[in-house]
Amino acid sequence: MPIYEFKCRKCGEPFEVLFRSREDKTVVACPKCGSKKAERLLSAFAGKIGNTSAGGAECGSCAATSCGPS
Ligand SMILES: [Zn+2]
Repeated sequence: MPIYEFKCRKCGEPFEVLFRSREDKTVVACPKCGSKKAERLLSAFAGKIGNTSAGGAECGSCAATSCGPS
């Protein structure tokens, strides 16, 4: 089961979320302030870092391989 690192865009709290699978639609919410606007910190995949300012929340809960530019 993959564990992804996120960073809250509201308060800046870093946290990890465990996904049961790459398709898991777990809602990512900050454990500190409850905000769902969290961006995923990509350590293994490059190329989406510059995209997090637009649609980062939507892409935060899906696999990087399934929401990249088509
Ligand atoms: Zn937060």
